[in-house]
Amino acid sequence: MTATKQAMDAFVHETGGWVASQLEACTRCGMCAEACHFYQSSGNPEYAPVWKLELLRRAYEQRFTIFGGIKAAIGLDKRVTDDDLKHWSELNYYACTVCNKCSMVCPMGIDLGSLLHGVRAGLSAAELVPADLMAAVNKQVDEGSPLGMTSAVWDQRLEWVADEWEVEIPRDVKGADTLVVFSSIEVMKFPTNVAAIAKVLNKAGEKWTVSSKAREVVNFGFYEGSEEHTKLFINRILEGAKELGVKRIIVTECGHAYDALRWHAANWIPEANDFEVIHITGVLGELIGAGRIKIKPGFFDQNGNGTITFHDACKIQRKGGHIQEPRDILNVLAPKSFKEMTPNREESVCCGGGGGVIAIKAADAIRYKAFELKIDQVNKVGAKTVAMTCSNCRLQFTDSVEHFKLDWKVTGLAQMVADALVE
Ligand code: SF4
Ligand code: SF4
Repeated sequence: MTATKQAMDAFVHETGGWVASQLEACTRCGMCAEACHFYQSSGNPEYAPVWKLELLRRAYEQRFTIFGGIKAAIGLDKRVTDDDLKHWSELNYYACTVCNKCSMVCPMGIDLGSLLHGVRAGLSAAELVPADLMAAVNKQVDEGSPLGMTSAVWDQRLEWVADEWEVEIPRDVKGADTLVVFSSIEVMKFPTNVAAIAKVLNKAGEKWTVSSKAREVVNFGFYEGSEEHTKLFINRILEGAKELGVKRIIVTECGHAYDALRWHAANWIPEANDFEVIHITGVLGELIGAGRIKIKPGFFDQNGNGTITFHDACKIQRKGGHIQEPRDILNVLAPKSFKEMTPNREESVCCGGGGGVIAIKAADAIRYKAFELKIDQVNKVGAKTVAMTCSNCRLQFTDSVEHFKLDWKVTGLAQMVADALVE
């Protein structure tokens, strides 16, 4: 079967009644284009969200509408070729972080984010996922983690974090209330985050554990658009949670992982409903609100760090709704130096590195271009520190700080809380 046939079949599979109604509702007004950071930063009309859906629209029109069928039969509508698919693979994987901002502005209420996932599903079925993204998926299938966090590496890293930061990390504890699932980005690249979260949960007296089986929360199958791989990685977490008998799962600082586990898992795997899934940002808010941990007022200001701003992550703040907790925390830690970027909260502009984009070398130029929007926003408030709650955003920020030689400090919110804990 050709790549085109496979992709078109998958698009048609995606093109159920709901998708059809969404596509029919589009008035081609173009408002979604202005919302997309890739379009905004480049002016490239092909980066308009609605254009990224063009293959899905054509598959729907040609297979399901009489007019579309006639147009295709008499050659008025171009048949999709393998080259078209390769081109749309680049548009969708290089220049879309599935940040969902376009969905927010569409006057017709079209859920572009879900449709864009549908396009990825077709491209994945046609084996047109960029090679380096696919290599990360395969690594997660084979080794349990896209960043090479095998069982042996996991043991070694956790022992090192526990020793280095003198913090207890409970492992594989049966009967714990809460399973904490870290991303390999944190364990491998930002280990202070692991230590910080452990410190906070220990201080709060939480009965928590990590699981060797559920050691990786990142879900590269979700980035790929493969239901099979997404479910495989979610199942590993659910099996770990079930084995230890926990009641809730805390997802740490990873936005896409939270999206997959919090909202998508239960649609595919009924057992996902057996667990409460919550993001660490919500947990920090709960613990501080209930007085289970206390943080030192003005701690950030006292250290003379200059202005601090907060970057809202698409999946944690815009989609997850954890908008107020970071602000409440920053208003305590940095009452004098916390300033909001514009736009912010639900309307925040994506960092440009999510959706697997940062894993694709060929997308680097597009990704850096999109980050220029963020540079402008941060510089406008004169911030020298940027806090956030997603380690994928943090990776994009730290990488871009180096690329653009910026004098900013990039930090995680959990880390700020841990540093300011009242002992
Ligand atoms: S904003 Fe909505 S209606 Fe307008 S072009 Fe985009 S998807 Fe279509
Ligand atoms: S989901 Fe985000 S990155 Fe993708 S097209 Fe929409 S606005 Fe652009």
